[in-house]
Amino acid sequence: MLRVPYVCVSLSPLTMDLNLPGEGIGPRPRRASKRVWVGGTAIGDGAPVAVQSMCTTLTHDVDATIGQIERLQEAGCEIARVAVPDKRAGEALKEVVRRSILPVVADIHFDYRLALMALDARVHKLRLNPGNLHNKDGIREVVTRARVQRTPIRIGVNHGSIGDRRPGEMRDEAQRMVDLALSEIAILEGLDFDDIIVSVKAFDVPTMVAAYRRLAKAVPYPLHLGVTEAGTLLSGSIRSTAGMSVLLYEGLGDTIRVSLSEDPVMEVKAGFDILKSLGLREQGLTLVACPSCGRADIDLIPLAKVAEERLRALPVPMKVAVMGCEVNGPGEAKDADVGIAGGVGKGALFRKGKVVGVYPEAELMDALLREIDKILVENGKEPYSAKAPKASHAGQLTPGRSVPAGQRS
Ligand code: SF4
Repeated sequence: MLRVPYVCVSLSPLTMDLNLPGEGIGPRPRRASKRVWVGGTAIGDGAPVAVQSMCTTLTHDVDATIGQIERLQEAGCEIARVAVPDKRAGEALKEVVRRSILPVVADIHFDYRLALMALDARVHKLRLNPGNLHNKDGIREVVTRARVQRTPIRIGVNHGSIGDRRPGEMRDEAQRMVDLALSEIAILEGLDFDDIIVSVKAFDVPTMVAAYRRLAKAVPYPLHLGVTEAGTLLSGSIRSTAGMSVLLYEGLGDTIRVSLSEDPVMEVKAGFDILKSLGLREQGLTLVACPSCGRADIDLIPLAKVAEERLRALPVPMKVAVMGCEVNGPGEAKDADVGIAGGVGKGALFRKGKVVGVYPEAELMDALLREIDKILVENGKEPYSAKAPKASHAGQLTPGRSVPAGQRS
């Protein structure tokens, strides 16, 4: 705790406890934890924080599920979870596991027999919800089988499914989730099983943060972070970031899932953006884009969106800037590896803040892609532009502007 002397001009000196955080740059070192392997992906014990997502497909539709897993993998996803709501889904798991490019987690609620089917299919992890799995003998059977097969289990407590407080019960909601997780962990440990990952997710961010902090002190297992039912793309990403970044910055969290009412590919993008923003992972494109203003000589917002789309599959970490004006843009984005900045009807291409070329606006994006290819080749990598997704901002206008780029009056 930092104590600073505080001198008030009219009163005698006193010392105030300002309860300030430390001054170091960057997240605290990761909390030490046991390491758990989900297929070939390491979780905990200093492994990079893994990004995972969950399929929205019907699991028994194997082609659709595998197609989605492949799209998730392309976006950087490292673990894919699938729902197992019924026997039909359980029966499809073998084929899903066989064809999946990612480790597969079977999500089990209510019926332990579905977990047994998932073990038969050799899934890479089980997620069990102790809030709705009550057959203790069944759980024992699952855990014993998982131990023999060395299949890890996530104890996934979800605030929405822990039931109501008993009359007169005073404990807070975070503690109720932690207690449920601990009682389930005790069952697993009692069966000599410790290949455990834990989550205590809630929609309410302060509840979720408190639950994870307490759990982190109580058990040595890796933590799977998430804010449940976080919402649609914008509000859900913000809510998830609000909750997870507090914990990640404190060194807590070994794998994350951003829950969005969206294409799960967006969950993966959001997950990596959280980790990249905190300096915890490096991956593909980091887009630096100014918000545009009345100084912008270019249709900045559509151009930035097109750049994000065209560069989304960049194979190596690269910071790329899209700035609205030549006066401020290159300087403000001098940390970027490469970037473009608008001029009237044309724009500058720059590297690390130094202008290396000027192009008509219509050619700027292609010039940017060519420069990225050059950087890749200079670093011994394959060029990217031929594989870049196609997109164009032709005909689009930055909101609020009525005159296309380069046609200022
Ligand atoms: S870079 Fe230029 S256009 Fe973009 S916000 Fe700054 S001043 Fe405005």
